[in-house]
Amino acid sequence: MYFGSVKFFKHVIVGVTILLIIVPCVICFILGSKLNEAQAENAKLRSDIDSYRLSGHPAEYSADEFFQIYKDNLSNKQKFLQLAYEDNSTMYKAASGIDATAKPSSAEKTDEKITAATIKPTTKPTTAESSIPADSTEPQMTHTEGARASYETLYPELYADIPDNIVYKQDQDFVYLTFDDGPSRYTDNILYYLDVYGIKATFFVVPDGSEECAARLKKIAEKGHTIGIHTATHEYNKIYAGVEEYLSDFKIAYDRVYEATGIKCNLFRFPGGSINDYNGEIRDDLIAEMTRRGFIYFDWNVDSSDALGATWTQMYNNVLNQTAETNRAVVLMHDYNGGYNTVLVLEDIIKALLSNKRGYKLDRLTEYVKPVQF
Ligand SMILES: [Zn+2]
Repeated sequence: MYFGSVKFFKHVIVGVTILLIIVPCVICFILGSKLNEAQAENAKLRSDIDSYRLSGHPAEYSADEFFQIYKDNLSNKQKFLQLAYEDNSTMYKAASGIDATAKPSSAEKTDEKITAATIKPTTKPTTAESSIPADSTEPQMTHTEGARASYETLYPELYADIPDNIVYKQDQDFVYLTFDDGPSRYTDNILYYLDVYGIKATFFVVPDGSEECAARLKKIAEKGHTIGIHTATHEYNKIYAGVEEYLSDFKIAYDRVYEATGIKCNLFRFPGGSINDYNGEIRDDLIAEMTRRGFIYFDWNVDSSDALGATWTQMYNNVLNQTAETNRAVVLMHDYNGGYNTVLVLEDIIKALLSNKRGYKLDRLTEYVKPVQF
């Protein structure tokens, strides 16, 4: 009999002893490494906060408050998103996600799609009436002539001023930092870090028409960064209800930027990116109409995921790792009132990019940059 034998009890004792030693060791090891990671992250944040405060910025939060918010973010993504929603203007409350519905394709995929065939230099018609859409014979144009004409004749001044026959600049290893949804309470901080390292970036803005917003737009422009349109309301259900609705919202944002800065924007970014869960019905017509008007849209091929509640470490890794997989990177970040982490991580991302052995060059988007589009 094996059960009840001396051999059986020996095996039981040995087995239990091994379990008692090995299992706690494994648990300790896992917990220890997680603790180290968290401690390192907290220490990093502390030093970031110190340098942030020492740099003389108007801090909205005390260091302790900032630290608490960050810790909540680490442990509770939902709470962070809630904070972001509460902090923000109504557009975030109205929208069901902060660009969360965007479907960024992989970097490689995006680069593959950008071919000479898909990038057509836009030709600006002198008047709305005189133009026949270049794409009018393509199968995706399903609207009737009448329906199309109804929005083509709207806003006869709303055309981008793009030179003919654009030759795209050589931009291997260029990195284009882009900040959506601003201006916000963090715009000044973002501008500060860009200034410190002497780099230019791009802001796809959601101007609310306030004086405060106009002042921040002016500052972005004066610093030499590119301003692009990201709509006035950012409310997906509203702007993607139809081409006319989108144009109407776009026009408001376009005019606000012009009034604040004297700049007539040529570039824009669709809220949620050009392919999202809200614009399926109108996507082809909308893109065709915006392109007919000469406007150039940029999606992205690197996503920091900041507005989705990424931690400091996740944002840092997202940007650095995804950039490494591209020939040229258009990086999605956000300038929004919930963007504590974006401000905190920005300098480290810039430093890491500038010191990378690939010799990345950080620059702003212009019409001379070949668009990155999904
Ligand atoms: Zn956005």
